Amino acid sequence: MTDWRDFPKLELHLHLEGAAPPPLVRRLAAEKGLDMVGVFDEAGHYNSNDFTSFLRTYERVSTVFSTPDDYRALTEAVLTECANNGVIYAEIFLSPTSLGYDPAKWTDYLAAIEEGADQAEQAHGIVARLIPVAIRHHGPEQAVIGAKTIMSVPRGRMTGFGIAGDERLHQPKDFTPAFKAMAEAGFRLTAHAGEFGGPESVRAALDDLKVERIGHGVRAAEDADLLVRLAAEGQVLETCPGSNVSLGVYPDLASHSIGALLAAGVKCTVSTDDPPFFHTNMTSEYTELEATFAMGEAQFARFARTAVQAAFCEPEVKANLVAHLDKSGVPGA
Ligand SMILES: [Zn+2]
Repeated sequence: MTDWRDFPKLELHLHLEGAAPPPLVRRLAAEKGLDMVGVFDEAGHYNSNDFTSFLRTYERVSTVFSTPDDYRALTEAVLTECANNGVIYAEIFLSPTSLGYDPAKWTDYLAAIEEGADQAEQAHGIVARLIPVAIRHHGPEQAVIGAKTIMSVPRGRMTGFGIAGDERLHQPKDFTPAFKAMAEAGFRLTAHAGEFGGPESVRAALDDLKVERIGHGVRAAEDADLLVRLAAEGQVLETCPGSNVSLGVYPDLASHSIGALLAAGVKCTVSTDDPPFFHTNMTSEYTELEATFAMGEAQFARFARTAVQAAFCEPEVKANLVAHLDKSGVPGA
């Protein structure tokens, strides 16, 4: 019987550049002669203590990755870090706008990302799927162009489509055309909502974008009617508690809504979002949840089982993940 602290973990909410390990960023920046002054703090972590400094550092870190081979190395490093924290399956958000909209360029970069994912899978057994995301503050027209680019290139591990970026700009319904087109092309849908936006943004993502999962969604806890709806419909939230505390959505973990969401019967999963920016990883997310909310074996088993059910992957991959959980002694088989 495996100790529940060693249960296999699944991560459904992870941004590729946001998960970039600092040593890789330092190495590539040195090779390219890029100025990284201000990116790292004295301890060697990324400088990120609020939403503004997070976005600023994130953009500078992203500039380090400029070639397909950089993306291969990034993908392999991110998935290796996940595997080192017990993650057996990860879904990674890609932002097409950072590459422009040239399908030929996208084909090259995606091939490199696939190669990095292959390398990590061979070395560590971790399985990855990819979710390109529109960037909300770039606007609805760019989202449609991005969707068209994605639909025109080899799909590989891309199984979903989503939206990230500044939730305070534009309305979900503005992005309905891009989401509708992607759904018709067979992509599964998720959207960041209920992080900096309130419960109304979660409702709008469900009603206007027809998503299957909500990225974060934690502020749904402010609306009792919405909690009833989420529970009744079996909607799944990709919660990222460490991220929310780091960006000040909640002052500390004890104030986080995850306990209230679970108590209301809402299905939740746990992910790290942009782990090195938020000084977190899946091991510490679990440790902190245990320490703060006295969560234990039953709850961590539910997180894993819920994540398998909500994963954007093929039925045979899901069956393998279920088998992996079963043989690891995760309750709920
Ligand atoms: Zn996110």
